[in-house]
Amino acid sequence: MTDKNQQITGLEEEKSLNFIEQIIEEEIAIGKNEGQVYTRFPPEPNGYLHIGHATSICLNFGLAAKYNGKCNLRFDDTNPSKEDVEFTDAIQEDIKWLGFQWEGAVHYASDYFQQLYDWAEQLIKESKAYIDDQTAEEISAGRKNVNEPGVNSPYRERSVDENLTLFRGMRNGEFAEGSRVLRTKIDMAHPNMLMRDPIMYRIIYCHHHRTGDQWCIYPMYDFTHGQSDYLEGITHSICTLEFEVHRPLYNWYLDQLTTTEYRPRQIEFARRNLNYTVMSKRRLLELVEKKYVAGWDDPRMPTVCGLRRRGYTPEALRMFAEKVGVARREIVVDMALLEFCIREHLNKTAARVMAVLDPVKVVIDNYPAGQTEYVEIENNPEDPEAGKRQVAFSGELYIEREDFMEDAPKKFFRLGLGKEVRLKGAYIVECTRVEKDENGNITVIHCSYDPDSRSGSGSEASKRKVKGTLHWVSAIDAIDAEVKLYDRLFKDEDPAGHKDVDFKEFFNEDSLQVLKGCKLEAALSSAMPGERFQFQRLGYFCVDLDSKEGQLIFNKTVGLKDNWSKIQKG
Ligand code: ATP
Ligand code: MG
Repeated sequence: MTDKNQQITGLEEEKSLNFIEQIIEEEIAIGKNEGQVYTRFPPEPNGYLHIGHATSICLNFGLAAKYNGKCNLRFDDTNPSKEDVEFTDAIQEDIKWLGFQWEGAVHYASDYFQQLYDWAEQLIKESKAYIDDQTAEEISAGRKNVNEPGVNSPYRERSVDENLTLFRGMRNGEFAEGSRVLRTKIDMAHPNMLMRDPIMYRIIYCHHHRTGDQWCIYPMYDFTHGQSDYLEGITHSICTLEFEVHRPLYNWYLDQLTTTEYRPRQIEFARRNLNYTVMSKRRLLELVEKKYVAGWDDPRMPTVCGLRRRGYTPEALRMFAEKVGVARREIVVDMALLEFCIREHLNKTAARVMAVLDPVKVVIDNYPAGQTEYVEIENNPEDPEAGKRQVAFSGELYIEREDFMEDAPKKFFRLGLGKEVRLKGAYIVECTRVEKDENGNITVIHCSYDPDSRSGSGSEASKRKVKGTLHWVSAIDAIDAEVKLYDRLFKDEDPAGHKDVDFKEFFNEDSLQVLKGCKLEAALSSAMPGERFQFQRLGYFCVDLDSKEGQLIFNKTVGLKDNWSKIQKG
């Protein structure tokens, strides 16, 4: 069912209804649930959300919006040992940042612990559940395998009274963790292994982030999810494909415990994964705990908070979810698609500024000493509202070291000895000589300028075409900044997909590069954390959360073009 080689790289055509929308529209047509659509997003609060969750959020909230319905946020907090309020807060923040609002209050599976307990007693009383004293290993062994029917537990035929007494004892903390479980009495020979007397409750002595020490028995996911959907009036319980085999059990519990005609309907779709990264929360947590990355919101992480810090916008992530779509077949999405989406959005919205990441000084020898003039530069040619700004120009500037070659070949359309270029929005300059240090590194590039060539002045010289245009920053008011460049987090396309090699072996040690002493134009001195810009000719950059005036830090979000797919092919 999994086809990891199928990758989505480009644009898709105008979408027809996806398979879930088809189901919904068929149901609306026959008046099921009075035509209502009520979905939910059910995260387990055991980590931060990642891009896969983001697509699920867009799907659930998106369907509710499309069909005038509602969408709940419900934390699936049935496993107290792994959960944390840190995560419930962060998850809510991420959903809101993505642009969605859940219906009413936040829900928790733990809201239903009492009701679930009562339902468990009901099943015991109906002889549909029993306390099993076997160990986890014995229970698992007794289930046998798909080719062999399981064997009944020796405790399966306990009386209702004994089961009730023991279950209440479990609840009251009379037994050790792991010593007993409550199991459903279904069929130990069932072809679906999950129906072979599934566990309903286990004993866990652990403080719960919401119910405290009120409970020491906790319901299993399967005994919780469908009933929670039912209690909330959910019509479409959308989940990922691995739950398909759970569906008979989901329905079985509802059949036993509820009497109304209304039933939530579980629909499965395939996970969306990205290449060159890992998505499971367990692995992401490991990267954080073992300090491979600076935290959950490290800009290299595929988490929503990491992407946000990197400079991604909610619009870009929603566009990504839309393009990826929903299907029954698991796919690995090319990272290039995600980058395409953010580039699309930032191209329309980010102000263009000039920044030099690896500066080398340029001195214009014939520029009047001490003079500063202001040239006018467009803020964003894609946005007619963005206006223009004044940028200081003077006789000392910085350009990018790689934009100069002393002995430049013909095809090098940048600056070289005896060559001319235009400085963006300003003058044409020609390199006359260079100064070098004792190691032969260029320290100063000397130029002369053509005073008549100023851009936009209307003169003949201003219209003269030269082969290259360079970005620059005037030394007179340049500000310093630190800029962080990022590469793929892993060197392998599917780091978690190797049987005998740990995913961390593929960690890309060069995934973070910190550049100090970058020179930015003065307009950026008051840039605020989270603000996004296009550094001309270099890419899109976002002010980091830790950035302060006087100590600016920028993260590179994405380059201007998709260099990556070129490199891969080359
Ligand atoms: P992980 O395996 O990454 O830890 P999970 O499935 O355990 O994820 P949950 O918190 O249970 O995480 O997920 C909340 C919702 O997000 C579920 O409905 C789940 O199906 C969905 N989801 C999780 N990962 C993906 C993914 N890669 N693509 C689409 N939906 C996903
Ligand atoms: Mg899960």
